[in-house]
Amino acid sequence: MDVRVTRIVPGIYKMQLPMPYSLDQVNTYILETEPLTLIDTGPIMRGVEEALERAMAKCGYRPSQLGRIVVTHTHVDHMGLAARLKAASGAEVICHRHALEEMTNHRETNLKEMRYLISMSRTVGLSPELMEANRHFMERWLDVAESVEVDRVVEGGEVLEGDPYNLEVIYTPGHSFDHIVLYLRDLGLAFTGDFLLDKITPNPDIYPPWKSPRISGLPDYLDSVAALRELRVVQALPGHGRCISNFRGRLEEVLEHHEQRKRYIVANLRGREMNVLELALDLIRFVEAEMNTTNIFLAIREILGHMVILEDEGKVFRETRDGTFFYKVT
Ligand SMILES: [Zn+2]
Repeated sequence: MDVRVTRIVPGIYKMQLPMPYSLDQVNTYILETEPLTLIDTGPIMRGVEEALERAMAKCGYRPSQLGRIVVTHTHVDHMGLAARLKAASGAEVICHRHALEEMTNHRETNLKEMRYLISMSRTVGLSPELMEANRHFMERWLDVAESVEVDRVVEGGEVLEGDPYNLEVIYTPGHSFDHIVLYLRDLGLAFTGDFLLDKITPNPDIYPPWKSPRISGLPDYLDSVAALRELRVVQALPGHGRCISNFRGRLEEVLEHHEQRKRYIVANLRGREMNVLELALDLIRFVEAEMNTTNIFLAIREILGHMVILEDEGKVFRETRDGTFFYKVT
């Protein structure tokens, strides 16, 4: 598999690793600092570890030379290889405080969340068949990452010092509850993980009750977007896809995307009642996306986020019948 290495500025490299998944590549970054720093790792999927080694070699390094691994969030494509890289190098592993449990106990934590999400199936209107598909969909994540010992947790606001580049930690929950952005103020670079991507809007998390009283991460995500609007960013370096030079403009686009979706949902609900699944299927048809299980689950997460916000805004009204949420316009 081909790896692409791009020098962002002297001493900072983007390593684009192919992965066998619907998002077909993940970006990780090397900072030639003291300590040698890696931002995100790629998953344990066929060929990815070798691709990372090849990419690092193009920058002149071996995994054993890593001094620090910073993980933007606990999704497997960003932290999967952390344990192996730490074993090879003894590197310090850093993540957000809310990522600690999932980092150190990957399988159990994911199983627990999976059970919660399956228990939510009826809430969103999923049939038993789709519920099963959902279980298979989620089970794929169990084996593509390994638990890793964490050396330091951050909350946001800290500076990870490195010679010559310091990274400021910004807490940006929503796509996941434990997401951070790393900001290199001197150069106006932001390592955005999945907080901001060039082509797609990040899917909001479904929050289990032990993480947050809110059912969806979308309100948090939109707050994070609004909070970062004033940040002076010359280039955003995302976890997938191309770098983003119009940071502020892209944030505005993301906000507008969600406003449009909310207006569409309200218009769609006029004179009828729908559940989350029905709204999700309608959305997939509306945007002419492929009707497959992955897209259905992604759409469900996004719709659920919009419904939480629309309810807060008093624009829709929710009724629960037989454990399923049904929405009407107020
Ligand atoms: Zn990702």
